Amino acid sequence: MISRSFRYLFSKGTIFDKILSKQIPSKAVFEDDDVYAFEDIQPQAPVHILIIPKFKDNLSGISQAEEKNVKILGRLLLTASRVAKEKNLSGYRLVINEGKDGCQSVDHLHVHLIGGRQMNWPPG
Ligand code: 5GP
Repeated sequence: MISRSFRYLFSKGTIFDKILSKQIPSKAVFEDDDVYAFEDIQPQAPVHILIIPKFKDNLSGISQAEEKNVKILGRLLLTASRVAKEKNLSGYRLVINEGKDGCQSVDHLHVHLIGGRQMNWPPG
């Protein structure tokens, strides 16, 4: 039997496409018609959730965003706020990494919701 990760190497799309199609398992936190929120596999804090658009629409990153994407961009942020409330976070950080210098590793727009501990500033 071919392992999940081996199949991924030879198939199209990002790992988040595989998560959306449930070829790769994930721990769901919230889902509606537009967005999916799930736990990050390598959490950087007690709460680390990723929020992604279900329909990628060429949004490999925030730098690809256009006027037509305004609605989904708003949905991502509203979802982050909603999930943070559900998790009773008193404070938290939302992060969008963009490009190589921004340490983006998955080319499918996503918002990190990070909390459950004291954040530091400036970020690294
Ligand atoms: P980026 O570095 O692109 O801003 O964030 C990508 C995030 O996706 C990272 O925090 C990484 O831990 C997470 N990630 C990568 N692969 C998987 C996976 O298979 N499952 C989950 N749940 N998260 C993943």
